[in-house]
Amino acid sequence: GKVDIACDVLVLGAGPGGYSAAFRAADLGQSTVLVERYARLGGVCLNVGCIPSKALLHTAQITEEAQALAAHGISFGTPTIDLDKLRGFKESVVTKLTTGLAGMAKMRKVQVVTGDGRFVDPFHMAVQGADGEQVIRFKQAIIAAGSQAVSLPFMPKDPRVVDSTGALELRQIPKRMLVIGGGIIGLEMATVYSTLGASIDVVEMLDGLMAGADRDLVKVWQKHNAKRFANVMLKTRTVSAEARDDGIHVRFEGEGAPAEAQCYDLVLVAVGRSPNGGKIDAGKAGVAVSERGFIAVDKQQRTNVPHILAIGDLVGQPMLAHKAVHEGHVAAEVAAGEKSYFDAAQIPSVAYTDPEVAWAGKTEDQLKAEGASYGRAVFPWAASGRAIANGRDEGFTKLLFDKATHRVIGGGIVGTNAGDLISEVCLAIEMGADATDIGKTIHPHPTLGESVGMAAELYEGVCTDLP
Ligand code: FAD
Repeated sequence: GKVDIACDVLVLGAGPGGYSAAFRAADLGQSTVLVERYARLGGVCLNVGCIPSKALLHTAQITEEAQALAAHGISFGTPTIDLDKLRGFKESVVTKLTTGLAGMAKMRKVQVVTGDGRFVDPFHMAVQGADGEQVIRFKQAIIAAGSQAVSLPFMPKDPRVVDSTGALELRQIPKRMLVIGGGIIGLEMATVYSTLGASIDVVEMLDGLMAGADRDLVKVWQKHNAKRFANVMLKTRTVSAEARDDGIHVRFEGEGAPAEAQCYDLVLVAVGRSPNGGKIDAGKAGVAVSERGFIAVDKQQRTNVPHILAIGDLVGQPMLAHKAVHEGHVAAEVAAGEKSYFDAAQIPSVAYTDPEVAWAGKTEDQLKAEGASYGRAVFPWAASGRAIANGRDEGFTKLLFDKATHRVIGGGIVGTNAGDLISEVCLAIEMGADATDIGKTIHPHPTLGESVGMAAELYEGVCTDLP
């Protein structure tokens, strides 16, 4: 058959996993082709995920903090919202980053091919673009086709029913909004829309919001957000929905279910993401794909076909950008003949809500379930000079230790900037730091970051002089 382009390494998908893999492969001297169906690089994360959501969350948080300054004697009055301008700001952030990526690809001589890629056989991919089909022959391939939002089959096809991508479009500020799914993505969007003025209900099948996080962290977030939500329905399922002129009428079943159908101007379905492994004709290359669309890999990111590797959301949980990036680097290094492998001691999770909730390594709930013998230390932010000065002392910092070695095996932080603060815990876990290492490290005063050092000192039993 015809071959239009030949390369050492083909990367399918230009999300955080794919562009990281392509850039690393090129840096290691491989001729690299990056196939992406959309004109803009960056995948879900940059275009419709991590980055636009944070642009909106940051704006929302500043708005609320400005309002809270009334208690400090400074009032701004009621904010007025120009939705077009806010959307424009969000789009400018995305454009800046995605054009930056395109420049970095060019600089490294990564050839970007725009179009829908599918395997033809173990060494060829056909890419269907606007100008027709191109066939690429590769020596090795890295699959990074990511994931997409799961939809609920009974939801009506209606512009008032959206997934996270639709919610990020910010078409309108609804009066009443329903968020289906109390996970991180749903709650982040709920935070944005509630700040913009929407009255929000959240429905969740499980018995708590933010599954995966320690309940004591979530409790603090929940208390701070008690007024943010009109109704939080736990252990409740959405069972049907009907689009009418006055809104989407939704029925629920379960412990928190109201008897009547509820009417909403906007419904966000945030019930999880499904991997794209089943949509790329992987079978034609001999690559095994699970029924749900996941592709299994070994520690070197190799699939069952050794010269085809896979990374990111479609190889499994957690579906997070930073995991995809590190897997991408491993895959590229392996493709270039290096002996790399993925062996993370921890992968952090962050809910960029207000306050933020962040955790890394083992959670305490996990350790309890395992019956592990562990130590814990909690530093309450009510004892942090900086948190008090910030007017935000509701949070705490928790460290979890191996009882025998005093090494840090996990940690959780709830409070403003928790997502930035958790990095020290990540490093401690990776380096095998113990309580003394952290406690005796001089942290700058007065900072929220001190709380990590203080928690370690508490564990040592030497922190007797709380500020
Ligand atoms: P993706 O980013 O999904 O990229 C895959 C790419 O492959 C896409 O560009 C797609 O167009 C392309 N593609 C797929 N099939 C084909 C094909 N056949 N041909 C050509 N191209 C194809 N993670 C975090 O770590 N932090 C966050 O704060 C965060 N916030 C999020 C907020 C939201 C609203 C959402 C939805 C997700 C968020 N995530 C966050 C998750 C994060 O976006 C993903 O984990 C990450 O994007 C996965 O990267 P990836 O490289 O595996 O795939």
